[in-house]
Amino acid sequence: MVRRLNFINNSLGLIEDVEVQSDLLNYGSYGVKFTKKANVNFTNEFKKRIIEIFKYFPELHNEIVLVGWISPRGWARGSCCLCSSAFASKPLKISLQPNERNFTIAHEFTHVLQARKKEVLQIPSGERACDIWTLTRLPLELIDDYPSYIGNYPMRKRWDTIKKTVRELAFNAVEIRKTKRQYIVWFEEEVKKLGK
Ligand SMILES: [Zn+2]
Repeated sequence: MVRRLNFINNSLGLIEDVEVQSDLLNYGSYGVKFTKKANVNFTNEFKKRIIEIFKYFPELHNEIVLVGWISPRGWARGSCCLCSSAFASKPLKISLQPNERNFTIAHEFTHVLQARKKEVLQIPSGERACDIWTLTRLPLELIDDYPSYIGNYPMRKRWDTIKKTVRELAFNAVEIRKTKRQYIVWFEEEVKKLGK
C-alpha cells in the first residue's frame, strides 16, 4: 500500500506527506489513508473514529481519501481542499485537528461529496448545505456536536435534547430542496419555532 501511494505521489507530484500505517489499512476495506503528519499526531482511537465515520459515506468507498493533520493551535477545526480548478485530478483530501468531533469529521467528508458527487446526490454547495446534509448522514447516536453554520443560539444551548428533532428537520429540508430553493430558509424557520 505504501508503494501504491508513492506511485500516486510520483505520478501526480501532489502529495508530499504520505505514509501509511499498515495495520490501519487492514482495519477495513475503506479508502481512508492518513498523511504522515496525521499518522504521527492522531491517536489510534481517533483514526478508528474517522474510519468509522467514513463508513457512512459509501459513495467514496472506492476512492482514496487522504486525511491530513491540522495544528490544534489553528482556528480551523477541519478543512477540505477541493477548491482548486485542477481538483478533479487530485486525490481527495480532508484535514482535521486531533480528536475532532464526529460531526466535524462528517462535515469534511460531506464537502468531498459536494465536490465529487454533486450531480448524483443533488447536494448544493456551501457551508450551510454541508451542515444540513451532514445531519442526515450520521445516525443520531454518532452526532456528538451541533452544526455551526445553521441553526441558532437556543438550538446550540439545548442541542442534546433537540438534536433528534433538528436531524429530522434536516431530512425534511433535503426533501424540500428537490422542489424548492428556499429549503434553508424553511429549515431555519422551523429551528426558530423549536426555541419558543
Ligand atoms: Zn465546511
